[in-house]
Amino acid sequence: MLKSPYHGGHLEVIVGPMFSGKSEELIRRVTRAVIARQRVQVFKPALDNRYHETAVASHAGRTVQALAVRGAQDIRTHLSGDTPLLSTRGDSLPDVVGIDEVQFLDAAVIPLALELADAGVRVILAGLDLDFRAEPFGFMPALLARAESVEKLTAICTVCGAPATRSQRLIGGQPARFDDPVVLVGALESYEARCRVHHEVHH
Ligand code: ADP
Repeated sequence: MLKSPYHGGHLEVIVGPMFSGKSEELIRRVTRAVIARQRVQVFKPALDNRYHETAVASHAGRTVQALAVRGAQDIRTHLSGDTPLLSTRGDSLPDVVGIDEVQFLDAAVIPLALELADAGVRVILAGLDLDFRAEPFGFMPALLARAESVEKLTAICTVCGAPATRSQRLIGGQPARFDDPVVLVGALESYEARCRVHHEVHH
């Protein structure tokens, strides 16, 4: 017997540049599900090496409870231990699983998301579609291709006010170079939302 009358497992992905409201949109969808008494579990990548309680926060300050995880395997273990997800559905899987900043997890999140959707879970994933060079971010294209729904959000270009589809990376106030490492330890870096015209990557 399934616990939930909601059988429509599927995969929803929310993408866009930084500041486009991906976390806000994830929080909005998750909050509505909670109000409708759905069982919801939200995850996000841990910045350090710990597995712990935390929150997803939008840049505007809204939050929702989440678990910080080190990778897709942590999510799998949290949801079902060693049991295959498909046979877990009736017992303990949530109705809705949300993941923020999904691009920082690993590619094993794709089969995990598909298994959850097959098991009847509504899976909502939010993350960057492009890196600071405006190149597709890691495994995100493969995730987008497999989703039932994709919402591509825009921010507002900080230079001209046009819809911003890209994340401008600044190091010491200057546009980052194409070959700068994606993660720079200890550098003074910041990000701004930019449109196609005002996004700069130095070669
Ligand atoms: P994301 O998860 O896509 O990074 P958030 O949901 O965390 O986005 O934050 C979206 C919020 O960021 C907006 O509601 C707004 O308050 C703020 N914000 C800051 N800079 C911008 C910008 N250039 N364009 C749009 N929103 C911005």
